Amino acid sequence: MIVKGNLVDCTEKGTIRIRKKNCIVIEEGIISKICSENELPDSLKNEEIEDYGDSLIIPGLIDMHLHAPQFAFRGLGMDMELLDWLNTYTFPEEAKYKDIEYAKKAYKKFVDALTKSYSTRAIVFATLHTQATILLMDMLEESGLKCFVGKVNMDRNSTDELIETTESSIDSTNKWLEVCESRYQNTKPVITPRFIPSCSDKLMKELGKIRGENYGLQSHLSENPKEIEWVKELCPDATGYLDAYDKRSSLNKSKVPTVMAHCVYSDEKEMELLKERDVYVAHCPQSNICLSSGIAPIRKFLNSGIKVGLGSDIAAGYSLNILNQAVEAIGLSKLYWRYIDKNSKPLELAEAFSMATRIPGSYFGKVGAFEEGFEADMLIIDDGVLNKDIDDLRKRFERFLYLSDECSMKAKYVSGKKIL
Ligand SMILES: [Zn+2]
Repeated sequence: MIVKGNLVDCTEKGTIRIRKKNCIVIEEGIISKICSENELPDSLKNEEIEDYGDSLIIPGLIDMHLHAPQFAFRGLGMDMELLDWLNTYTFPEEAKYKDIEYAKKAYKKFVDALTKSYSTRAIVFATLHTQATILLMDMLEESGLKCFVGKVNMDRNSTDELIETTESSIDSTNKWLEVCESRYQNTKPVITPRFIPSCSDKLMKELGKIRGENYGLQSHLSENPKEIEWVKELCPDATGYLDAYDKRSSLNKSKVPTVMAHCVYSDEKEMELLKERDVYVAHCPQSNICLSSGIAPIRKFLNSGIKVGLGSDIAAGYSLNILNQAVEAIGLSKLYWRYIDKNSKPLELAEAFSMATRIPGSYFGKVGAFEEGFEADMLIIDDGVLNKDIDDLRKRFERFLYLSDECSMKAKYVSGKKIL
């Protein structure tokens, strides 16, 4: 297959690369060559070209952190901070997923919206309900998107309607992983303790064992000051929040990395451990604004070589559009520089774009850029409504990044397969 258009992606160095009217040659979902039409080898001269004319073609975006069951109440309860928000809005909503008929309706809306969004891949929290989690994974598999999904674990500090015993949490996680083993091509399970306050020491230890070498782990880290104080009380043995996870679940054991959402209050010591354990940070700027959590020190993470991707954190964030998160990440980094640390220079457009594509893409393998050997995740963007009179592709891309909600997507490919 050959796809042609104006290619915009990020280089390994994190700069924006523009290739005007170039062809992407794809074999079995993988990019085998990028060149102009004239440079196509003779063997491909008679191949049909999917010519998208003057459209922009960008890599599929990656949502590193979101909660599928919370999609139903986006935009509500934004007047609270994390712990009150969880108790008032989130836990009662997530409890509804015990009812599989409710889950079916709600998850269908979520999967439809994610399919239509600019994201081709996502790392997703479900709820603690095994049956509804498998249903969600079935639907995501059907959509053609490529996702990691976690059955949530929680055995303390929740409501009566949304809690497991330690034993049932361990047991249902094992059963769920068994079901996942042979059922999916595109959908993978990820171990998902909600956060330290929701999981007893015993449960965290068992999840570390279940994770072993073969599974990833996702959770929340250093999001809100009250939450951090609470973790200190719950884990007096730990030198910090990440250390509490590390001491209980041995974060260095697996081949599949850990993803931690937020990391707003991670200090130098925690940054060192993030780096040492090769943890991916899912930066969720809109969520951090909505729940008044704070501003994460993203410049410091990037300077220390910590991998940072972007997350919508539905429903603490309200938009599934990862480019809106990129814009908010740039905005928050400017406030951080202005108000908090003059040495932390604001994020550049290219860095935010890389955090939406290439950096989190590495979690999935060779994903998130247009290079030989990379999986062909592509979005075909019609930006005519914005940029009719602009020739400069860089300016067109910059406006698209800020105003993507006004543009339309002509097609969406995941590993070379057209899903929209
Ligand atoms: Zn979250």
